[in-house]
Amino acid sequence: MANYDYDLLVIGAGSGGVRAARIAAGSGAKVAVVEEFRVGGTCVVRGCVPKKLLVYGSEFAKSFQDAKGYGWTVEWARFDWSTLRDNVAREVDRLSGIYLRNLNNAGVTVVHDRAELVGTNTVRLVHANETVTARTLLIATGGRPYRPVEVKGQELAITSDDAFNLPHLPKHVTILGGGYIAVEFANIFLGLGAQVCLVYRGETVLNGFDDDIRVHVHSELKRQGVSVVTGTVLKEITSAGDGYQVSLTNGMRIETDLVMHAIGRTPYTEGLGLETAGVKTGKRGAIPVNAYSQTNVATIYAVGDVTDRIALTPVAIREGQAFADTVFNNRPTAFDHADVPSAVFTRPQVGVVGLSEAQARQKFGAVDIYRTQFRPMKYILPDNQERMLMKLVVEEATQKVVGVHIAGPDAAEMIQLAAIAVKAGLTKQQWDDTCALHPTAAEELVTLREKAPPLAG
Ligand code: FAD
Repeated sequence: MANYDYDLLVIGAGSGGVRAARIAAGSGAKVAVVEEFRVGGTCVVRGCVPKKLLVYGSEFAKSFQDAKGYGWTVEWARFDWSTLRDNVAREVDRLSGIYLRNLNNAGVTVVHDRAELVGTNTVRLVHANETVTARTLLIATGGRPYRPVEVKGQELAITSDDAFNLPHLPKHVTILGGGYIAVEFANIFLGLGAQVCLVYRGETVLNGFDDDIRVHVHSELKRQGVSVVTGTVLKEITSAGDGYQVSLTNGMRIETDLVMHAIGRTPYTEGLGLETAGVKTGKRGAIPVNAYSQTNVATIYAVGDVTDRIALTPVAIREGQAFADTVFNNRPTAFDHADVPSAVFTRPQVGVVGLSEAQARQKFGAVDIYRTQFRPMKYILPDNQERMLMKLVVEEATQKVVGVHIAGPDAAEMIQLAAIAVKAGLTKQQWDDTCALHPTAAEELVTLREKAPPLAG
């Protein structure tokens, strides 16, 4: 039998790679992780965590406004970007340190370098200019923000990677895109006091979400003051004074202080040596894998965003865990990608699990829809006009709740719990049998009795 330097070598110390490395090491395997940037990956360093902290920071402006209706006078409130930015950076440092310590404590060797595949069991460390061998290789290199490289001046725009380190908070921001990252940053910048223009090629933001949620979030974004330009894309960016001029294909020009691409992410496989190792790639450079995350090369596996299945942290973690259980714990495990909950931390916050109404109609034919829209109790005294939307999608034949869609305060927290019921396949009657908790917004989920006609689409 061949002798290898390691039993497992993981490329990428992000959500998926770290989990896989720790579990494999726990089984007694000799494990190394190669990371070219910072331990923790996108989620910890420039994704979920710093983003959510910016979201928290941006929510205070609205809270100060609402406080008046409750009798509070907020004498003065001034925002300092550098305080928030530096506090977020400190928290990222702390968490990255914890991830590194956890790897060390598990006995995993952490190598700070860039890795490239040079064979089915061999990786080259680019900076050290050495090769390392392993019985099994795991690719967990994640994704990168997409840049429209063919567009003139596109390099003048930042991506979400850069948004956490801005030297100053811009007065006017133009965000290109309408996906979850675009609308989250639109609300972050708006809440922190910037004027925001969102440019989207479609008609309604949040493509892929339930149509009612899309329409609701789109109109709320506009109501709150985001200028939303639809049906057009970027033509050119030029420097103009201290800022930029953004030209759109519809002829419109926008003067702005900051431009941000948020038009999607692509699997990070460029220059990884996949061809040399014989690993096939699919659409947008993603690595196709089987249910056990194995690529077409028997010794090479891939998990997380690089496989372009569902690009979310908990999914990458579960895929990493399932891989390690399968290969190192002798427990073949395929992660089930059905009914993964997700959230959009914009205003109103969105939480969804299961099928949209359109997906359910396509899959089952007949579905029952239950829907309610109302002003959350907390917003009545301040006369805040923001509304909440809740929707249940029920398969008619079995009466199982197959989709839950919420837009409003705490939607993400609610959907995590609703996901248990959807995953368990509970029926609408079982939801109704659950006693309400009063007074909450969530009680609407178990008191919806009237079937609704379709609203949108
Ligand atoms: P990553 O975490 O991206 O880790 C990959 C690692 O590999 C990186 O550290 C990279 O430096 C390293 N690497 C790449 N190539 C090499 C190489 N050749 N050699 C060495 N190292 C290499 N998900 C959620 O669930 N909830 C959210 O709210 C959320 N918000 C997000 C907000 C933003 C702005 C972004 C960008 C993402 C967000 N995500 C969110 C998605 C989430 O961050 C990813 O799904 C998750 O991090 C994927 O984990 P991963 O292990 O596949 O890859």
